[in-house]
Amino acid sequence: MTSPTSSANAVVIVGGGFAGWFAALAIQKRLPHCHVVLIEPRGEFLFQPLLYELLSHELQEWEVAPQYNQLVSNNGICWLQDEVVSIDRSNHTLQTRSGDRIPWKQLVIATGSQPNDFGIPGVKEHSHGFRNLSDVRYLRHRIQDLVHQRQPNAALAIVGAGPTGVELSCKLADLLNGNARIHLIEKGDSILPNSSAFNRERASAALERKDVCLHTNKDVARVEADRVVFSEGEEIQHQGLIWTAGSQANVPSLQPLPKLHRGHLAVNADLRLQDSPDVFAIGDLAINADHPVPANAQVAMQQGEAVGTAIAALQAGEEPPTFEFNDQGEMLSLGIGDATLTGLGITLAGPLAFQLRRAAYLTRMPGLSVGVRSAGAWLLNR
Ligand SMILES: Cc1cc2nc3c(=O)[nH]c(=O)nc-3n(C[C@H](O)[C@H](O)[C@H](O)COP(=O)(O)OP(=O)(O)OC[C@H]3O[C@@H](n4cnc5c(N)ncnc54)[C@H](O)[C@@H]3O)c2cc1C
Repeated sequence: MTSPTSSANAVVIVGGGFAGWFAALAIQKRLPHCHVVLIEPRGEFLFQPLLYELLSHELQEWEVAPQYNQLVSNNGICWLQDEVVSIDRSNHTLQTRSGDRIPWKQLVIATGSQPNDFGIPGVKEHSHGFRNLSDVRYLRHRIQDLVHQRQPNAALAIVGAGPTGVELSCKLADLLNGNARIHLIEKGDSILPNSSAFNRERASAALERKDVCLHTNKDVARVEADRVVFSEGEEIQHQGLIWTAGSQANVPSLQPLPKLHRGHLAVNADLRLQDSPDVFAIGDLAINADHPVPANAQVAMQQGEAVGTAIAALQAGEEPPTFEFNDQGEMLSLGIGDATLTGLGITLAGPLAFQLRRAAYLTRMPGLSVGVRSAGAWLLNR
C-alpha cells in the first residue's frame, strides 16, 4: 500500500531524534514548499542530555520530552508515527511496520544508536539502560524503594564511566542520600577518557565528594540478578545494575546493503552514502571514516542543519557542501545543582555552570514555543 502522506517528490526522514528532527526543521526552513515526511515511532522527541534532570524532578516530562504532534503543528512537516522496517535504495521506496510503502526523492536516515552488551552473559536479562522515559521511571521506583527500605548493604552498580555513567552516578548519589552505595565500574584505567582534563578533574572530585565507589580496570565477565562478576573472579552485590558501557549504530535493513565502517553507515564528507547520491545518513549511526566526529547530540544537530543546506543545493542542481563540525565543547551534569563545562573559551564548574548548561540546552529545545515555555517554567520555579 502506498501511503497518502508521501509523494515521489518528498524528502523522507527516518528517525526523529536530534539528527532527524533538526534536518526536518532545516529543510522546511530552506525549502518551505518541499514535502517533508518524518517517520518516527515514538510519540515524543527525547532530549537525552536532560534525562538526569528529569530523574531528579528538576525538570518535568513535558520539558524534556515534548510531543511530536505539538512540535509539527506550527510547520509543514508531516509526521508519520511508524517504524521503518526496510529501505529499497534501487526503487527509492521504504516499507513501514504498519504496511505503508513510501516513495522518496531524497532520503535522510537518522535512526541513532542502541545499547551494546558486547555479548557479555546476563547483561540483557539483568540490567537496565539509561536512554529513555521508561528507564527514568524504573530508576525513580528503584530510588523510592531503596530510600524506603533503608537496607544497610544496599547498592546500585553502574557499568561504564563515560559521560552517562559519571553523570548518572552523581545524580543517583544525591537522590539516594546515603541510602544505597553507588558502584561505578570501568574497564579502562580512568573515567571520561575523551573529556577535557578540567571536566575529568571536576567529575572525579564530585564522585569522591558524593562517596561513589569507583572501580577502574574491571572487566565484567557476567551479570546476575544480584551481582556483577569480574573476569578475575571478584564480584559486587547489587540491587539494580545500569549498563552505560557502550552503544552501537542502529542501522535499518537496507537493500542493496551499503558500505559499513565499524558497523556504522559509511558516508562521504557531504554526509551522503558512498554509492547513493540521494541518500544521507547522519547522527550516531553514520561515520565518515576519513574525518570521524564524536557520536553526540551536538554533532547530530549540526549534521541535521547541514542536510538542510545539502538538500537545498541538490534541488537547485548543485553539489552539496562538505560537512564541517564546529566543536563547541562539553558540558557535564554533576548531581543536583552542579555541572562542569569547557568550550568556546569558557571553563567553569559549580552552580553557575549548572545553570548555564540547563539554559544552553533549553534554548536548543526543538520547536521555539516549547523552548520558551520551558525556559519560563524554569525561571518561575526558582
Ligand atoms: C542519558 C544520555 C545523555 C546524553 N547527554 C548528552 C550530552 O550531554 N551532550 C551530547 O552532545 N550528547 C549527549 N548524549 C548523546 C546524544 O543524545 C546522542 O548522540 C544523540 O541523541 C544522537 O542523535 P541521533 O539523531 O543520531 O539519534 P537519536 O536521538 O537516538 O534518534 C534516533 C531516532 O530514530 C528513531 N528510530 C529508530 N529506529 C527507527 C526506525 N526503524 N524507523 C523510524 N525511526 C526509528 C528513534 O525512535 C529515535 O527517536 C546523551 C545520550 C544519553 C543516552
